[in-house]
Amino acid sequence: MALAAWLLTYGGILKRNVLVVFALALGELAAAQITVVKAGRLIDPDSGTVLTNQVIMIKDGKIQAVGPALALPADATTIDLSDKTVLPGLIDCHTHVADGRSLEGGDPFNVLKKTASQIALESIPNARKTLLSGFTTVRDVGTYRALNDIALRDAIARGDIIGPRMYVAGAYITITGGAGAMTGQAPDLQLPWDLHYGEANSPWEVRQKVRLLAHDGVDHIKVLSTGAVLTHGSSPNATEFTLEELQAAVDEAHNFGLRVAAHAHNAQGIKNAIRAGVASVEHATLIDDEGIELAKKNGTYLDMDIYDEECIQEQGRNGTIPLDFLEHDRELGEKHRQNFRKAVQAGVKMAFGTDLGVCAYGTSPKQFAFMVKYGMTPMQAIQAATSNAADLLGHAKELGSIKVGKYADMVAVSGDPLKDVSLLERVEFVMKEGKVYKSAGKATCSQQE
Ligand SMILES: [Zn+2]
Repeated sequence: MALAAWLLTYGGILKRNVLVVFALALGELAAAQITVVKAGRLIDPDSGTVLTNQVIMIKDGKIQAVGPALALPADATTIDLSDKTVLPGLIDCHTHVADGRSLEGGDPFNVLKKTASQIALESIPNARKTLLSGFTTVRDVGTYRALNDIALRDAIARGDIIGPRMYVAGAYITITGGAGAMTGQAPDLQLPWDLHYGEANSPWEVRQKVRLLAHDGVDHIKVLSTGAVLTHGSSPNATEFTLEELQAAVDEAHNFGLRVAAHAHNAQGIKNAIRAGVASVEHATLIDDEGIELAKKNGTYLDMDIYDEECIQEQGRNGTIPLDFLEHDRELGEKHRQNFRKAVQAGVKMAFGTDLGVCAYGTSPKQFAFMVKYGMTPMQAIQAATSNAADLLGHAKELGSIKVGKYADMVAVSGDPLKDVSLLERVEFVMKEGKVYKSAGKATCSQQE
């Protein structure tokens, strides 16, 4: 072939290939950027031990090596936390980050005063505050405006906004008039689709909702097994879904590789959920001895939000919570905490979940001190929010401890949180996937970046 013809035929491809090679070289160069974190003390929740003078090598957002004396590349960026205690990024397994400001004042009716877009945009600071408080991952367990949480999760994952890595439920699967439904309005009021997306009233309707949500791209399923405190016309003592309906939810969710979290306050609803095979029972407020035994036998996680009672009572004193909610809550708070103590003593698997949204965003760490006050060691409370939480999420390979191959998610505090766990309320350093969001106690990324 003549040279001119050859160039005409293959020149374009050649040029493209050169560009591809150049781009690959640039990629390699970027990938070679290594960050090194020097940790004076490093908490390992997997073994329940503390290591000293560790070096953590990070590449492409993942942990590449951890050890006391690593050979460091000369051009590595070094972050010196040798006077701090470093922990894996914290995980809150029960949040409602995508409800905007509509949970303020505790009344779900606030949701009716705004469009879904308004609520989604109002959720941006919720996500940011949650991350800056040290929570690099959350399991969000329901939003009133269905699928708002998927939009928020994806916006964070794209880097459009700052927030924790989110695993989301899409909507509440609930009986009509139940704990996850919009209730209290006149029966002839027609709600928009997204305010009753997850309502189901038979095993087959439950399966249909699970299928819809799986198709929408959720990460887990949230079912409401009993009534709720913060819902009009609902009673935490009422059993809502039947065992058969809960079994349908778990079975159908498993068909799509999804786990189920069940909201349950009363003893029967808790046991129904455990027998149906859910991964976690949320609240587990009135769990009895049989329920504790069942949870232990089945390896079911309990996710007991024992701090938010403080906020409900404060809202009661300020008159900013509906009176019927306060009535539902009467006496439940202390029983909840005593049952938490029993479950811890019995050795039930516990994960950290706060029902974030009931209390102000950014206050999740306040629960640690309560978990210790009611029977956990500081290490157990930290494990609940790291290694146990990662296991509950089904992501123990990527999250929950500072180990090779996992995401470079970590936080640091001054002092020893194993002596004073409330130090976690003042996290000074936050890294998610190798990127620093907080350093020396100050945010390092503005929302506009
Ligand atoms: Zn909740």
